[in-house]
Amino acid sequence: MAEAPIHIRSSWAAVQDHSRHFADFTFVYPVISRRSRGLSIGINLNPDKVCNFDCVYCEVDRRVPGLVSRVDLEQMKDELVAMIRFAKDGGLAKEPKFDEVPWLTRDIKDIAFSGDGEPTMIANFAQCVAAVAEAKKAEALERTKIVLITDAAGLDKADVRAGLELMDANNGEVWAKLDAGTEAYYQQVNRSHIFYERILKNITTTAQSHPVVIQSLFLKLHGSAMSGIELAAYCGRLNDIVAAGGQIREVHAYTLARPTTESYASRLSAEELNTIAATIRERTGLKVAAFD
Ligand code: SF4
Repeated sequence: MAEAPIHIRSSWAAVQDHSRHFADFTFVYPVISRRSRGLSIGINLNPDKVCNFDCVYCEVDRRVPGLVSRVDLEQMKDELVAMIRFAKDGGLAKEPKFDEVPWLTRDIKDIAFSGDGEPTMIANFAQCVAAVAEAKKAEALERTKIVLITDAAGLDKADVRAGLELMDANNGEVWAKLDAGTEAYYQQVNRSHIFYERILKNITTTAQSHPVVIQSLFLKLHGSAMSGIELAAYCGRLNDIVAAGGQIREVHAYTLARPTTESYASRLSAEELNTIAATIRERTGLKVAAFD
């Protein structure tokens, strides 16, 4: 019988030991992110891979179960501090892949709640924000943002609202997913039991008190890109948010980076994506960045 994988719990001594590679970390990982415009330190609040969306383009392989089902706050903070120091002291710049862009690896643009599922689904989101804010302060990262990358379904939870207030006080920013302009297209792309109206309401309410970045993935389904009618509806939803007093700092329009498990979902060309971005700009007047 094959042996079950053994999960080695990190300790401060272990995470300080750079011979123990950061790939062994449970909650923290570094990434050079175009949307962050540099080094982003990711915090995976869902190593259990739990999500309330089932996007056709999701890259998380849920056939393999997650290793842990609970966020260990102390371990997460230890890993984060070790990663911050590893980046700042130049260790990360010597790592494969990161050595191709060493000038980007010492300036930590953001610490982002993201990972293998939906961060707002955990029960103690506010505590996680507090732990990250403490580490950020202790490591003198005033300019570094705390980013929440979310599908917006849990933005109305009391604990999440408390976490957002803490984020506000610590250079926080919400990046909310919006891939559709109608319930029908939302169900085709995001395949969630949560009503589209609730997603819109949560984004609007959040944007009324915290400027948000809208993250929208555009793709082809069965060879067809989003229709003109759907794109007009999508632009209409953005205009609705602004008309209701919501602040949208920027729209990030992007497409698939890799093939997905759903063979009928495919990427747009750079030209197709740029055309969509130009349409959004024209119809909403918002700042739109395209990442093909
Ligand atoms: S919201 Fe993110 S993690 Fe959840 S299914 Fe969609 S892409 Fe995957």
